[in-house]
Amino acid sequence: MTKVYLKRKIAYRIANGHPWIYGNEIETIEGEVEAGSIVEVYFHDKKPVGRGYINQKSQIAIRLLTRKSEEINETFFLNKIKQAWQYRQKIGYTENCRLVFGEADYLPGLVIDKFNDYFVIQTLSLGIEKWKDAIVKALETIFSPKGIYERNDVPVRELEGLTQQKGFLSNPFDTNVLINENGFKFMVDIENGQKTGYFLDQQDNRRAIEPIVKGANVLGAFTYTGTFEIHAAGYGAKSVFGIDVSEQAVEQANKNAALNGFEKICRFEAMNAFDALKKWDREEKKYDVVMLDPPAFTKSRESINKAVVGYKEINLRGMKLVKNGGFLVTSSCTNLVSPELFLDTIAAAARDAKKKIRQVTFKAQASDHPIIWGIENTNYLKFLIVEVSSM
Ligand code: SAH
Repeated sequence: MTKVYLKRKIAYRIANGHPWIYGNEIETIEGEVEAGSIVEVYFHDKKPVGRGYINQKSQIAIRLLTRKSEEINETFFLNKIKQAWQYRQKIGYTENCRLVFGEADYLPGLVIDKFNDYFVIQTLSLGIEKWKDAIVKALETIFSPKGIYERNDVPVRELEGLTQQKGFLSNPFDTNVLINENGFKFMVDIENGQKTGYFLDQQDNRRAIEPIVKGANVLGAFTYTGTFEIHAAGYGAKSVFGIDVSEQAVEQANKNAALNGFEKICRFEAMNAFDALKKWDREEKKYDVVMLDPPAFTKSRESINKAVVGYKEINLRGMKLVKNGGFLVTSSCTNLVSPELFLDTIAAAARDAKKKIRQVTFKAQASDHPIIWGIENTNYLKFLIVEVSSM
């Protein structure tokens, strides 16, 4: 097997569990390098690091799969996915969960979402793409699924020299899948929905709104298929109005409301949230609870400032739309905006809006997306509830 020796200076980071090795951290390579193949990695002093896959086309040249000198084969993937499932079950997930969350499950580049008997997979790097058949086989062995679908229509694959694609990895099936979450029903369009079809990362946080929405008039912005809003209705809100820029999402949100019998309480319309929030702020509209869950505003360090301006803008407007003593429920899934920076931004929005805020809850993503300390990008979601009152 091809052997890769690292430079001296990276040893500390790698020794502390980080699985990525950048191209400029490699000292020498012994043997042929076939893109996407498994290599043995050694520290500068020739002590073994582990095994991983290499792709010199990517900035991250090697991603480690193991710290042992074990063989990477079908059984390796079967065992890793079994372990990931055991972990999810242990922490309380049965029907729907992110079964594999890349680096956090020691399977860099791999995402698998489980929607009861259906699975959606993303193989985001060449080295993991090569094991796609083994991964599908492992899912078949462990779950005997009703269907497996690939949502590899993501631009990041192009950085690895891969094409964007989507389609069945099992016999074809109806890609509109009904799931249950916290006692509510949702249709998930795994073929045409956003990302893998559904945002499982907020599934625990959706329960957190229960105590604050009883009898409330609720506004939701960036609703996608209406998950938070349908929870609000189910938890006793008097009225819920949701907006999203995507017509398709709004159509599904209204269907989901009807599916739960909340069509009289919950209504969704397609509009741009930036414009709508600004307009309603000017009109001095008021709600008991305002919920914001925008998409990631940036993926590059150069535009973090722009992202922060965006967060400040919508949260400032959101707070001003909250009645005195009401609540703002706000999220950020931008990886590069740290929890500290997010909270600072909310504080700045409150100052400008001349509001006093009191923190009710501050959380990360659902526990089926584990956070590994030392692997920063596994800690990406910020979820905050604050009480908002006048100065
Ligand atoms: N709250 C949802 C997830 C929201 S994802 C859930 O828990 O399932 C972010 C959503 O913001 C997407 O549905 C996207 O269509 C929408 N969006 C993006 N830009 C927008 C804009 N300017 N105005 C309104 N919605 C927008």
